[in-house]
Amino acid sequence: MQNKLKDVVNILQQARHTVAFTGAGISAESGIPTFRGKGGIWDKYDPIILEIDYFKKNPDKAWPHIKDMFYNVIDKAQPNPAHKVLAQWEQQGLLKAIITQNIDNLHQKAGNKNVIEYHGNTRDLICLNCGKITPVKQTDMTQNPVTCPHCGGLLKPDFVFFGESIPLEAQQQSLWHTQSSDVYLVIGTTGIIMPASLLPYEAKKNGATIIEINLTPSNYTNTITDIFLQGKAGDILPGLQKLMN
Ligand code: NAD
Repeated sequence: MQNKLKDVVNILQQARHTVAFTGAGISAESGIPTFRGKGGIWDKYDPIILEIDYFKKNPDKAWPHIKDMFYNVIDKAQPNPAHKVLAQWEQQGLLKAIITQNIDNLHQKAGNKNVIEYHGNTRDLICLNCGKITPVKQTDMTQNPVTCPHCGGLLKPDFVFFGESIPLEAQQQSLWHTQSSDVYLVIGTTGIIMPASLLPYEAKKNGATIIEINLTPSNYTNTITDIFLQGKAGDILPGLQKLMN
């Protein structure tokens, strides 16, 4: 493992355009459950509550679960050592961008500036009637369902539900960074959720070296990954940082 870590440090130090692609696994050590796996969100909740058609028809049923799943947990969560190392690397010019599937704001809380939120975020709510965005902090979250302070319409978290498309700007920026990258760090993701899961394949097609950090092998490990670092992101990233100093 130590040799592999040294190889990765060399690769990162020589890279021209390193991009990190992160999934729920990077936030697991901050206390936010992943979707899949033991203790995952889908052990407790039915994924239907995040389907857009179900949400529109049953907002009073979906909202209490959504608050419980995301807002009660994410509000209290803090960045862990993995997030902090990525923030240091951006400051040091070693990391150009993070493309995250997460909606938890933890990369920004850690200090990263260039974060592309592929699936939106939990900070804001969007009105399905008037289209206005309202920050959660300015909303009465005790309502059920949660309604718009401007028109009384139904508010939906401003993250991407199943059946919705990816925000255009996030798609464009992700593709640009992916195609520009020569090193692509894939951290804590199963590689199952489409179309986000296609990005590492695009990076590989463009010649990037794929470095993967995960507790267990993913869809990428035996297909496109060049170096697989098995373990917790909160151990491996600080381990790499230590070798850089
Ligand atoms: P997932 O839940 O499907 O899989 C998580 C992955 O992380 C697994 O491969 C697992 O082995 C790995 N993992 C778990 N703990 C780890 C650790 N400590 N270090 C390294 N790897 C670890 O997650 P996904 O593939 O990112 O799923 C995608 C969807 O889940 C995304 O759309 C995302 O929006 C949503 N999601 C987000 C959050 C969040 O914002 N924190 C939480 C749950 C789900």
